Amino acid sequence: MSSVICELCPKLCLIPEGGAGDCRIRVNLDGKLCATTWGRPSAVHVDPVEKKPLFHFLPGSSIFSIATAGCNLHCQNCQNWQLSQRGGEAMEEIFRAPPQTVVGAALGKGCRSIAYTYSEPIVFYEYVYDTALKAQAQGLKNVLVTAAYINEQPLRKLCQPIDAANVDLKAFDDGFYRSNCSGSLKPVLDALVVLRQEGVWVEITNLLIPTMNDDLVMIRRMSKWIVAELGAGTPLHFSRFHPQYQLRNLPPTPAETLERARREAMEAGLQHVYIGNVFGNDAESTRCPHDGTMLIRRTGYRIEENNLLDGRCPKCNEPIGGVWE
Ligand SMILES: [Zn+2]
Repeated sequence: MSSVICELCPKLCLIPEGGAGDCRIRVNLDGKLCATTWGRPSAVHVDPVEKKPLFHFLPGSSIFSIATAGCNLHCQNCQNWQLSQRGGEAMEEIFRAPPQTVVGAALGKGCRSIAYTYSEPIVFYEYVYDTALKAQAQGLKNVLVTAAYINEQPLRKLCQPIDAANVDLKAFDDGFYRSNCSGSLKPVLDALVVLRQEGVWVEITNLLIPTMNDDLVMIRRMSKWIVAELGAGTPLHFSRFHPQYQLRNLPPTPAETLERARREAMEAGLQHVYIGNVFGNDAESTRCPHDGTMLIRRTGYRIEENNLLDGRCPKCNEPIGGVWE
């Protein structure tokens, strides 16, 4: 009988033979560490890239999106808990899709990229990596939608075939990570810096949960950290909480809270701060930080106009960070 340590994420699970890590899907089979969901997604969809959300990445394009069961965090507010808080064997629906099948399907659907999303791609790391390499070789881009709870070494390797990431920064507060998510803050901040160093385009999502992580002083500190460590041009998406899973006792995030958070983040120096699925107004469009010119006008996930010229403001020539072609 030999135990193994999974060195993928900061939890460093010690897994006995026949057992599984905290994520449920990384198991010890005869003393060897395996991910049970390799090639076995439980969710497969074609989405607009804006839904990830990524607003500065091939706007208006379709993205082939896959997920397997499992997650290495356990957030009380999880939106996809039926997928994330289960082991691979517990799913009703499991598709057989080795990497080449995923790449072929993405190309067949006219997608420009593949997203590893919905649950937590870190826990199906090997499947992401193998698929992303094949996708890259065939001209597709690769996107992680992740909480970025991963150790430095495996992340640097994974970055090689990854073009963009939307990172869920759950709060700028270690206590929140510990009590609500069974994680910790520092590894996530470290991972954001590594993604940036490795040349991955990064956008950040911050879900605001009333009374739990909507403190404006904290939002200001978070925004200043993003400006200093990742750059003022890093897009930040505030998104609205809906009562679900283990947090049904709280109300949805008031629109006012989201607006105040956005103002705070912009005053802290962030140039592109968006509010998800609440308004049909400016908070979902991209303007030039220099002169306010409308660059990309959005309604929901739809692009109404795109005035960027080679990734620059057509009026003042200001370069806008992103992956535009
Ligand atoms: Zn301009």
